[in-house]
Amino acid sequence: MRLWLGILAFCVAARLYLETTDSSALVIALPYLVVSVATPAVIALGTIRHRPPHRAGWFTLAVAQLFYAAADVVTVLDDWISGEFLEPTPADLLYFTSYVLLAAAVLIFIRRRAPGWDLPTGVDALIVAVSAGLLTWIFLIEPLTADSELPLAAKLTQSAYPVLDLMLLVLAVRLVMGSGTRGPVLHLLLTSLTLMFAVDTAYAVQGVIDGGAVNEAYLDAVWMLSLALLGAAALHPGIRHFDQRSGSAVPDASPGRLAVLTVAVLMAPGVQMIQHLRGEDVSVPLVSAACAVMFLLVLGRMYGLVAAQRRAAVTDGLTGLHTRRYFTEALAVECRRAARSGHEIGLLIIDVDHFKRVNDTYGHPAGDRVLQEVANRLKAAARAGSVVARYGGEEFVVLAPHTGGDDLLALAERLRLAVSGLPVDAGDQALLGVTASVGAATAPAGAVDPDALMNAADEALYAAKAAGRNRSVAAPADRVEECPLPHM
Ligand code: GH3
Ligand code: MG
Ligand code: MG
Repeated sequence: MRLWLGILAFCVAARLYLETTDSSALVIALPYLVVSVATPAVIALGTIRHRPPHRAGWFTLAVAQLFYAAADVVTVLDDWISGEFLEPTPADLLYFTSYVLLAAAVLIFIRRRAPGWDLPTGVDALIVAVSAGLLTWIFLIEPLTADSELPLAAKLTQSAYPVLDLMLLVLAVRLVMGSGTRGPVLHLLLTSLTLMFAVDTAYAVQGVIDGGAVNEAYLDAVWMLSLALLGAAALHPGIRHFDQRSGSAVPDASPGRLAVLTVAVLMAPGVQMIQHLRGEDVSVPLVSAACAVMFLLVLGRMYGLVAAQRRAAVTDGLTGLHTRRYFTEALAVECRRAARSGHEIGLLIIDVDHFKRVNDTYGHPAGDRVLQEVANRLKAAARAGSVVARYGGEEFVVLAPHTGGDDLLALAERLRLAVSGLPVDAGDQALLGVTASVGAATAPAGAVDPDALMNAADEALYAAKAAGRNRSVAAPADRVEECPLPHM
């Protein structure tokens, strides 16, 4: 790594120095070419040396840079021999290939690092793409299309560069926003991509402003740095873990991400305002269209966030069962439905016996594992159409519509035996016998109050505990009927 950075520093210094001499174009370009040609070799070397578990992304990157180096060599030779271009030149085609391969490499990294597709981050990257795309069009591509002296092929060729750069920018944004290990390799890659984007854009902007007479020494220095950083990323031992799949997706709307999106969204109206203040032609249709697309994308993101919140509110984090909140709503809905159609509703409350002892003896994490296993067993044993929820702590509830009396008691016993049938693996080779007590209550056909049904089941559970635990007890058949009718 040190050697590589040393070579880079030397080559940059040489490039800047040669600019001040009157050496031939070929000699001036030589330091740049050294870095450019060495980069693919360095990437391949780093990959072979550190042996990351998945090499596809890194080798794709090396091949991309091979095309890039070939393009650089052809450009310099072209420049030296003829000094004139007819676009697209062979070098252009090599550059395009290299960009596409580079994008493929970044895509491979993105896919490997994140579990699933991570749609929200994709939408965020798209928002940035629309915003940056608008700027690219207004400032880089539109001036080209307006140039009447340029042949179409040249216009297309020159426009392709900002478009490809934009694609790289979006992929870089997607890479940094997505999940995966942070660290030097990610920072090196991102800095490289950002520098490449910045210097390509600076080059294009200068081209638009003064028609090609660009001071290339400093641009070359930045290009060299950007290439060398790609090589440095591959030389870093961190590439062993770089595309390890991360277990969880990143927080969906972190402050940093919102800041990026805010800037992206404000860019379009901002550009229009500047055009207006300077008395230039305002690109109304274009900016309006971009704004509309971004509005829709932002709305889509909001919809996704709300849906995720809703899911989180009704899903218990530990067991994956429904939450008490979901259950309470479901019970109220079922009671109203039963009042209309006149069917019975069965309700079970299942409480793990002496659960405190599990925590006290084996620790809280072991207790958590027991709760997860109990939840899995309840879910597997319950009938389709019944609602299984974690009511709190080590207490579970099952709502079984159209089930009452002896059928409900049979269901209660089935669930109780499912919980206690096999010892539970609580980790650290601790196999625990777990039992549970069940309280059952049936709401008779007709109108019934959810609270009354809950109270009846709770009393039955209390009776099961009092009678020695590890059993099911049903509330008396007339217990719920005595309760007040619901206010509907
Ligand atoms: P009983 O047979 O009378 O039901 O005895 P118990 O020990 O199960 O009853 P109690 O309600 O006194 O104890 C419940 C315990 O459950 C107390 C609490 O520390 C534990 N608990 C509640 N929520 C969790 C949780 O999410 N994880 C773990 N590990 N323990 C929990
Ligand atoms: Mg208990
Ligand atoms: Mg309890």
